[in-house]
Amino acid sequence: MDISEIRIRLLENQRDMLRAFASLTIENCLVIRDIKVIEGPTGLFVAMPSRKLMDRCPECGGKNPLRARFCNECACPLESERGERDVRGRPRLYADIAHPIHQAARDVVQGAILAAYRAEFERSQQEGYVAQSFDDLDYHAYEEAEIGG
Ligand SMILES: [Zn+2]
Repeated sequence: MDISEIRIRLLENQRDMLRAFASLTIENCLVIRDIKVIEGPTGLFVAMPSRKLMDRCPECGGKNPLRARFCNECACPLESERGERDVRGRPRLYADIAHPIHQAARDVVQGAILAAYRAEFERSQQEGYVAQSFDDLDYHAYEEAEIGG
């Protein structure tokens, strides 16, 4: 796998653990966006783009995130432990949209993105730094609550 380009958009003054968004271009052919660089308790890690898993309300059929305690449509209470569990027994609330298939690929992707993040962070400490542009992505649309899971 030849990584052609990585773009890093640093996020400043975050109250949460999200440090940057990244986009990854593979072999000048495929771009993966919405990759997150997150500062976890044991250091930086990369989270692939994901979507919230949803299910349907038993009362009205409305769609709700698995973490919702009340239906968005009819406000009836929902069971608190819904959906599947992962291998560690934690609820699966998100599903990756794009992700490396095996550990070796995961290591390559994460290593490259974290290296690019650190380089971008270094640049940002210098005078006259201009953040890289991601043209059409609207970062304000992200909810802070999306980062966990
Ligand atoms: Zn409902």
